[in-house]
Amino acid sequence: MIKKKILVTGGAGFVGSHLCDRLLKEGNEVICLDNYFTGQKQNVVHLLNNPFFELVRHDVTMPFFIEVDEIYNLACPASPVHYQYNAIKTMKTSVMGAINMLGLAKRIKAKILQASTSEVYGDPQIHPQTENYWGHVNPIGERSCYDEGKRSAETLFVNYHKQNNVKIKIIRIFNTYGPRMHPHDGRVVSNFIMQALQGEDITIYGDGQQTRSFQYVDDLVEGMIRMMASPDEFTGPVNIGNPNEFTILQLAERVIELTHSKSKIVRMALPPDDPTQRQPNIELAKKELDWEPKIQLNEGLIKTIEYFASII
Ligand code: NAD
Ligand code: UDP
Repeated sequence: MIKKKILVTGGAGFVGSHLCDRLLKEGNEVICLDNYFTGQKQNVVHLLNNPFFELVRHDVTMPFFIEVDEIYNLACPASPVHYQYNAIKTMKTSVMGAINMLGLAKRIKAKILQASTSEVYGDPQIHPQTENYWGHVNPIGERSCYDEGKRSAETLFVNYHKQNNVKIKIIRIFNTYGPRMHPHDGRVVSNFIMQALQGEDITIYGDGQQTRSFQYVDDLVEGMIRMMASPDEFTGPVNIGNPNEFTILQLAERVIELTHSKSKIVRMALPPDDPTQRQPNIELAKKELDWEPKIQLNEGLIKTIEYFASII
């Protein structure tokens, strides 16, 4: 018996492909929608023989019509290199994508979850970040197409809920890593592992003292599923991330150690508006979703290193 029919936008991306795996494993029918900007068919090729999986090439900036019970809205490039490549398109994807998916959810009375981000906090001035913090975002900076796009999407979600009773769920995802990250997408974990495995220099931007808190993808997927299943009154936003905070230098050293690499660390210019610190407060997720991350950095890095070693 099929449980639910579920649309995953951005389903051929890094996080989306793991979410599709999990939803299918739980007996759901999954429609994966993607324009393959940063995702790849390769991420879901193992699902193509499953009769309960459908792959649709579509761009969320255009309306899409389908009957489903739930929508996970993930379509949006997530790596700074990729979202800055075409800043206008990134903003259109976040804003028009949200409008199209919310309009769909309203029409078919589906529940819809938005993959928002810790970037809504910008370069945060309170630490760790709680959901009631409004953030510190440069509206005209290099990152603003992504940050403000995601902030606008949150506004749209909340207003479709208030005005049209759409059942919404907003999660704010903190830096997530794992197998199927694009090897050249420029994010720090994939960069460092690829560099270490290939004996290339490890590129630290700035002095490496900026911090991030890294979450393994399976923990995120568990948080997403729990959020979707939570009572309708709980709309979020809720932080989903691993509170263990590391400097970027510590991450580089950890990757070198785990890969037994001879790579050297080199310093490069720090990109503008690069947040100096980031750590989620996850008390709300613990209370409302009975969720907390289970996989710590070494275990997650080892799995991720195995994946990258297998594709080089
Ligand atoms: P990703 O780039 O691997 O996946 C994004 C997917 O969306 C790709 O498959 C891409 O092709 C697709 N896409 C982009 N624009 C589209 C469009 N206009 N129409 C249809 N598909 C489109 O990134 P990811 O890490 O898997 O991120 C997934 C979601 O989670 C994103 O919304 C991202 O903002 C959010 N998020 C991720 C992280 C993280 O650390 N991974 C952190 C915060 C938020
Ligand atoms: N970074 C780095 N070297 C790299 C890639 C990234 O030092 O090769 C730094 C980047 O400047 C930032 C942190 O690592 O401070 C995380 O970058 P990422 O692009 O993964 O995500 P962000 O959290 O900045 O969106």
